[in-house]
Amino acid sequence: GAETELERAAVREFGGELDGPVMIAGDSGYDAARRIWNGMHDKHPALIARCASSRDVVHAVTFARERNLLVAIRGGGHSWPGKSVCEGGIMIDLADLNQVDVNPERKIASAAGGALLNNLDTASLAHGLVTTAGVVSHTGVGGFTLGGGFGRLNRRYGLAIDNLAGARIVTADGKLRTVSASEEPELFWGLRGGGGNFGVVTQFDFRLHPFNRNVLSGLIMWPMAQARDVLEFYGEWSEKVSNDLYTGPLMVTTPEGDGLVGMEVVYAGDPALGEKELAPLRAIGKVAEDGIKVQDYMVLQTHEDATFHHGVRSYAKNGMVKHITQGLVDAMIEAYRPDPRLAFFTHTAGGAVKQVGELDTAFPHRNAETMVIVAGAWLDPAEDASAMAAAREWFAALAPFTGGYYDNIEFEGDSSAAGNYGPAYSRLQKLKSQYDAGNLFRLNSNIKPA
Ligand code: FAD
Repeated sequence: GAETELERAAVREFGGELDGPVMIAGDSGYDAARRIWNGMHDKHPALIARCASSRDVVHAVTFARERNLLVAIRGGGHSWPGKSVCEGGIMIDLADLNQVDVNPERKIASAAGGALLNNLDTASLAHGLVTTAGVVSHTGVGGFTLGGGFGRLNRRYGLAIDNLAGARIVTADGKLRTVSASEEPELFWGLRGGGGNFGVVTQFDFRLHPFNRNVLSGLIMWPMAQARDVLEFYGEWSEKVSNDLYTGPLMVTTPEGDGLVGMEVVYAGDPALGEKELAPLRAIGKVAEDGIKVQDYMVLQTHEDATFHHGVRSYAKNGMVKHITQGLVDAMIEAYRPDPRLAFFTHTAGGAVKQVGELDTAFPHRNAETMVIVAGAWLDPAEDASAMAAAREWFAALAPFTGGYYDNIEFEGDSSAAGNYGPAYSRLQKLKSQYDAGNLFRLNSNIKPA
C-alpha cells in the first residue's frame, strides 16, 4: 500500500545518498552480502547498506536511528552467534571498507572498520612490522578487536586492544568521533572490550612492533594415549615460560577417528633461544609429528583458514582459566571425545596480557592464564543438534575450572553480559547511557544503558 510505497521512496532516497550500494531482497548481491561466516545463520535484513566511506556509515546510522531500525554491524562477519546479520532491520555492511595503511615511521597501522586480519598482517609485515592478530586470517579486525583480540603474539605484545592507539567511530547521534587516550578517553576505554555497543568503528589505529617474520613455529602432536604426560607437563611448564613463547594445547580427532593431543607453538624471539626453551616440550614421550621449524609467520597465521572455511556450521563455547590445576588436567583428559567434528583448543594468555591492569581497559579477564575452548564444525544441518549437544557436554566437564568467558568465542553468552564484565559493567553502563541511551546498537553482548 501507500506506506510501503513511502518506505520504498525512503530507501531509494537513502540509496542515492550513499557512495556504496543499498540492497534489498531480490537485488543482485543481496544474498551474498547477508551470508556470514557461520552457516548456521540464515537471516534476511530488510536492507543492507554496503558502506564505501565513513560518510556512508554516518548516513546509515542516522537512517537507522530516525526509523528506529534494528541494526546489525558487519565487520568480517565471523560472529559465532550471528550478531552481524538480522531478520528485518538494517545490516551496516563494512566489507568494502577493508583498506589498511601503514605508517612505518610512526609504526602505526590504520585499518578500516571492515578489514580482515589478513589485510592487517600482510600490510604490516611488508614493513617488517607486526601487531597481535588472531589465528584465522579471514576473521574481521572489527569484532575481533572490540572484544579484546587474542592471537599468537599476545604473550609478547598483549591483546589487540593493548596495541590500539586510537579509533574513529560513528556514534548513535551520527557523529564521527576520533578517540584515543587523550580524546574522549572514556569512550576509548569502553571500546577496548565493550564490543559493538558504542557505535560503528570506521578506523582502528594499531601500534606496530619490529618483527622478523621467520619465526620458530608449528604444530607438535602426540597420540591421545600420551595426553596425561603432555598436559601435566604443560600445566607446570607453561606458567614459567618466557613471554616470547606462545604454546596452546589442543585435542583433535582425525577423520579416521584417531585422537591427537598437541600444541601450537610460536616463538616470537631469536629462534636459537626458542629451540632451547622448547627442548623439554619436544622431549615428552613419543612425538607423532613435530612440525616446529623456522618458517614464515604467515604460514601459521593462515594454516587454519581452510578448516574454518566460510559456510561451515559452527558452535563454540569457552571459559577463562586462572591456573592449570591438576583437576583441570584430569578433566581435559576425561572430557575428550573422539568426534571428528569437535576440537578442544586454547588461547594462551598470561605474559603481556596479564601486565595490563584489570580495569585499564573494558576487557574483564586480565588474570587468566589461558582460555579453554570447545568448538565444532560440520556441514550437514541435520547434525546441528547432535554436534551442539556433544560440544556442550564436552565443555560442561571443563566449566567448573573456569571463571567468566571470552565473549568473542561464545555462541550463547547473551544473558550473562553483566556478570561477565564484573566490576567494569557499571562504568560501561554509564558510557552506554552517554553515547547510546536508546540502545540503537544492541545486537551484541548488550550493555544496558544505566
Ligand atoms: P562480525 O560478525 O562482523 O562482527 C561481530 C560483532 O562485532 C558485530 O555484531 C558488531 O557488534 C561488532 N563489530 C564488528 N565490526 C565492527 C565495527 N567496525 N564497529 C563496531 N562494531 C563492530 N577471536 C580472537 O580473539 N582470536 C582468535 O584467534 C579468533 N579466531 C577466530 C577464528 C574463527 C574461525 C572465528 C569464526 C572467530 C575467531 N575469533 C577469534 C572470534 C572473533 O574475534 C569474533 O568472531 C569477532 O566477532 C569477529 O569479528 P568480525 O568483525 O569478523 O565479526
